[in-house]
This record gives sequence, structure tokens and C-alpha cells, in this order.
Amino acid sequence: MASRIPRAETESETETESESLDESSQNQILKFLQDLPDVPMGKLSPHLEFQRTRCELKADAPIHTDTLQYSGAYASVGYDNSTRLDNFCDNFKVKVIRLTEEDMEFDMIGIDPALANAFRRILIAEVPTMAIEKVLIANNTSIVQDEVLSHRLGLIPIKVDPRWFEYAENNTPNEKNTIVFKLHVRCAKDTPRTSVKSNELKWLPHGSEFPLISEDSKSGSSSKPRTYTSFSCSQDSFPEFSNKPITTMENIILSKLGPGQEIELEAHAVKGVGKTHAKWSPVATAWYRMLPEIVLLQNVEDEVAVELKKKCPVNVFDIEDIGNGKKRATVARPRDCTHCRECIGGGKEWEDRVSLRRVKNHFIFTIESTGALPPETLFTEAVKILEDKCERVIAELS
Ligand code: SF4
Repeated sequence: MASRIPRAETESETETESESLDESSQNQILKFLQDLPDVPMGKLSPHLEFQRTRCELKADAPIHTDTLQYSGAYASVGYDNSTRLDNFCDNFKVKVIRLTEEDMEFDMIGIDPALANAFRRILIAEVPTMAIEKVLIANNTSIVQDEVLSHRLGLIPIKVDPRWFEYAENNTPNEKNTIVFKLHVRCAKDTPRTSVKSNELKWLPHGSEFPLISEDSKSGSSSKPRTYTSFSCSQDSFPEFSNKPITTMENIILSKLGPGQEIELEAHAVKGVGKTHAKWSPVATAWYRMLPEIVLLQNVEDEVAVELKKKCPVNVFDIEDIGNGKKRATVARPRDCTHCRECIGGGKEWEDRVSLRRVKNHFIFTIESTGALPPETLFTEAVKILEDKCERVIAELS
């Protein structure tokens, strides 16, 4: 008994001590929290703003890759994250960086990745063009089989604005929905092998010249033979084509002919979209990437600066002279960064020096046209298609 009473007293003392310790650490935490600067309501703290607007590339994987479109995502700090039309109109910008006949690079700023991707998909699959769909082969003695030749013809871009034509669907081929080309090439017996190129395709504004085998023709009727198209007038009577004949992209090799070989055919082009077949896609490619942002987190000087410059395969960094024989690395061409992560490889110290980021709402968009329509027209057509889709959704909902 005598030994139990003191032990009880010791336990109680320990409990009191630990309570007072808890109390002191609680007070410290409370003081720490009280001393924290107020987070202004309606504004995100810097680290949340960083996570919202930037994706950061670490040596092993990127972080903060998601985009929060949920309006209540930051409700606890009073920040309204909803998509608002007035905000969008104020902040959205398009800046053309490069424009040629074939391709275009432009910046889309203030847009969500889902919308940028919608433009990419519409450009590839939904902006219509004209492409060869039917090939009527009268003679082909070349080494390229009829099917392969037809497939190659289908992929040749036709330089014509598809907005002047209608979809053929199940209608009879007419001057408003079909373009007819003729190809007739022969390699003479005593000449060397010759290449057949797309330039040899000749537009037939009056439509097909191949007669349809019909009962009339079999019976020897004297009426004008029917052909594979029913043109009521010549296409070159339309103002759009009167001074501008329809042509295809030049210098695409279709086949090679040996001495004595011949190809005679008619190719009928109709309007279609890339989601039916890639031959109707108006772009060789349409793609985007987020704007790279590279920040040096500390001064990178002397030999380390030289090493950093050497690490980058696309020459993003420069070295400046800061006097007293010292050199410092600078970020000179961040837009060229391919995010290969070479500069942050080789140890934690490199990740502490360089921060690689992507700006989540700034897209560098590139459109490479096949040649049917100029790239800037393709983009405006894609905008119109997206607009039509939105109007259809609104009409469905109202
Ligand atoms: S990620 Fe690659 S391309 Fe970009 S700065 Fe670093 S080394 Fe250069």
C-alpha cells in the first residue's frame, strides 16, 4: 500500500505537466494564427493563384495540371471562379504571330483548355472541304493498281472554297455539288519513264465527259448521250470561277508510267468533312501548346550559368556580363522552350534553380492548311461551327 500512494501522486503531476504543455503549445499556435496576415476576401492567396494559373513541371512529373471551372471551388475565400461572359469578353485576346499561305501561329489568351481543344477538333474533323470521292477509270496500264491510284487521288487537296458548293448526299451530281477532273496521260513507247503529277488533272467545268451506258445508247438513239453528271450549266459561268479555274495542289506524284503505259480517268470531287474521312480534313495538322514560363529562382552565375546554357537544346538561356568578371544566366527565349526538362535534370539543386511552368490560359495555336483554304479562313470557319453548335444547345435548352 505504502508504495502505491506516491505513484498516484507522480501520475497526477505528469498529467498536470502535460496539460500545461498542451496549453502552452496551443497558445503558441493561436498566436501564430493570429499573427498571419489577413487573406483578403474575394482574392486568392499567392500559392492558390499560382496553382490556378500555372502548371509546374518537376523533374519527375508535372503538378497542378487541372483547371478548376467549378464556380464554388474557392468559395471559402470568397473568390468567384465561375465562367462569366463579361470576364471572358474583357480578357480574351488573339494575337497573330506568323501568317503565311500555308500556316499560321497565333496566341489565344484568356481561354479554357476545353475551348482551345474544341477549336482543334473542329478544324481537323468538321470544317468541310472538297475531295475526290469517285474515280471512273477508263484505262490504267500503269503499275499502280486502280484502288491505290483512286486512294492517292482522294488525298490531293483541291484549291477551291467549299462554301460555294453544297453537300451531294444522295443527289444527282450537278454543278452545285460536284467538281469533275480529267486525267489522260500516256508514255510514248520510245521515251523514258515519266511521272504523273497532280498538275495533269484538268478541270471539266461542263461536267463528266464519259457517256453512261444506257438503253438509249444501246438502241442507237441520236439524242445527246447522258454522262455521269447532270450539269445544267457550265461551272465557269459562275462569277467565282470565271477568272479562276479550279485546280489541285501541284507536283504531287500520282504514279509513274513506263513506255507504252497509259492512264485515262475521271475524278469526281464532292464536299465532305474530316470525321467522315481524313481526305476531307482541311488541315495537315492543328495543334496547340501552353505558353512556357521559365523562372530562375536564384542567381545562376559563372560556371553554373555556362552549364545551364549548355543544358538547353533550344538555347532558351543567355549569359550576361554583370561586371567584375562575373556572368549571370538570363531567360532570353522562353517561348522556344519545349519543356524537355533537361535544365532541371541532374539533381535537386537544379530544381531549386529553375522553375518550369506553363500558363494555363495562354495557348500557342498552330494551323497548317492543306492548301484548300487559307489558315486564317479555316479558323474563322471553326469559330462559326462552334457558334452554330452553341446555338443548337441553347435552342434545345430553351
Ligand atoms: S525545359 Fe528544355 S527546352 Fe525548356 S528551358 Fe529547360 S532545357 Fe531548355
